[in-house]
Amino acid sequence: MCQKALYPGSFDPVTYGHIDLIKRAKEAFSELVVAVAHNPQKNPLFSVKERVGMLKKATAGMPGVTVEDFSNLVIDYAKKNKIKILIRGLRMISDFEYEFQMALTNRKLAPQIETIFLMPQESYSYLSSRLLKEAASLGADLSSFVPDFVEKALKKKLGKVS
Ligand code: ADP
Repeated sequence: MCQKALYPGSFDPVTYGHIDLIKRAKEAFSELVVAVAHNPQKNPLFSVKERVGMLKKATAGMPGVTVEDFSNLVIDYAKKNKIKILIRGLRMISDFEYEFQMALTNRKLAPQIETIFLMPQESYSYLSSRLLKEAASLGADLSSFVPDFVEKALKKKLGKVS
């Protein structure tokens, strides 16, 4: 337990799946930087500031966890911050191809940086921010999937509450 790790992603918005991974990563690494990608090409529902704010709230009280944002390449951000470990999550087999390609591309670009994959608790293994946005737009109860304040923010953003 000595190294610093970086968990990058869109977090649009943070779910209990992301939070589960953050807790698992913190068991293995003494410092964890959760880095929110600007990702304009993914047309995020929430601004970077909103996504960072929700993650900060979700990780408040977790010592050693900090939340930042970054643009451009994650490996450049890692190098700049002298971080050699990237954390990514694997839910279903469907994640594998994309994650595998990304990890190997990053390895080619920055061989000194290693990607480590973590699996969430089974009950979160089907959870995705994309699906939650769809469910929220239809007014679903999201209390099993996201913290209360995230559910409120989602429904407000999608015009489901005043
Ligand atoms: P990105 O756009 O980078 O994929 P996401 O926020 O969707 O951003 O995901 C960030 C990382 O967290 C990815 O590695 C993804 O597989 C993982 N992840 C997302 N949701 C879950 C979940 N429910 N359980 C475990 N890992 C997850």
